[in-house]
Amino acid sequence: MKSVSIKSFCSLLIPALLISPIWASASDKESTDEQAKWSYSGDTGPSHWGDLSAEYSTCKQGKNQSPVNISNAIKARLPGIKFDYAMLVPENIVNNGHTIQVNIRSGGAITLDDEKFILKQFHFHTPSENMIDHSAYPLEIHFVHANEKNELAVVSILYQPGTMDNLALIPLIKNMPMNTGDSNRLAAKDTELFERNKSVKNYFRFNGSLTTPPCTEGVRWIVMQSRPGLSRRQLNAFQQALKHPNNRPVQPLNARIVTK
Ligand SMILES: [Zn+2]
Repeated sequence: MKSVSIKSFCSLLIPALLISPIWASASDKESTDEQAKWSYSGDTGPSHWGDLSAEYSTCKQGKNQSPVNISNAIKARLPGIKFDYAMLVPENIVNNGHTIQVNIRSGGAITLDDEKFILKQFHFHTPSENMIDHSAYPLEIHFVHANEKNELAVVSILYQPGTMDNLALIPLIKNMPMNTGDSNRLAAKDTELFERNKSVKNYFRFNGSLTTPPCTEGVRWIVMQSRPGLSRRQLNAFQQALKHPNNRPVQPLNARIVTK
């Protein structure tokens, strides 16, 4: 059995659709072993995901797929998104071969569309998946939230190249498992710089999907307009841990609009 696949965020989706919340802990999902292996290159890379398994068919047939290129976003009076991460308690940081993921035990939530979405995990992509005016960024974090109906809202932060270490990332990089399948415990102080209790108004919004198989749609996407920096040294740490780029190429917008 490969722990890689059962720990992957995306691999949680298949059993989840049948029996349990999609953000559930990986430890009780042994049945996912039979799901198709996917990767970011070659015969199991993104252009083949939709053919690897019937469960992944949305990856090629979906019309609201993520990530996307954001250009010419429509100005709308988007309401503020209320962040409540003050009591954030992380569980651990996992290298699952597809991404580096921080699982959250409790204490993070956003209010969106008058609904509460609880933070389940956040994870890293390098280079970024979403693009702005056809430009990618070195790093993107996806904060994955679910409401009571298990509908997902993903908040994305794009990081731009900088000369200084990003303070919020320092404790995560320090604890980051460099080998696939490994995980390390995290303490509340390790994520405290992500804590914020404020309303954010400057963001892009669109409908999309998971960016990994099974590419499930109906995900509310929020991409922050403010882009913090990270140092070259910090970016190197993520690249070394991941060992390969983990960005799905941008997908057609089709009938969707992006608002800001
Ligand atoms: Zn992601």
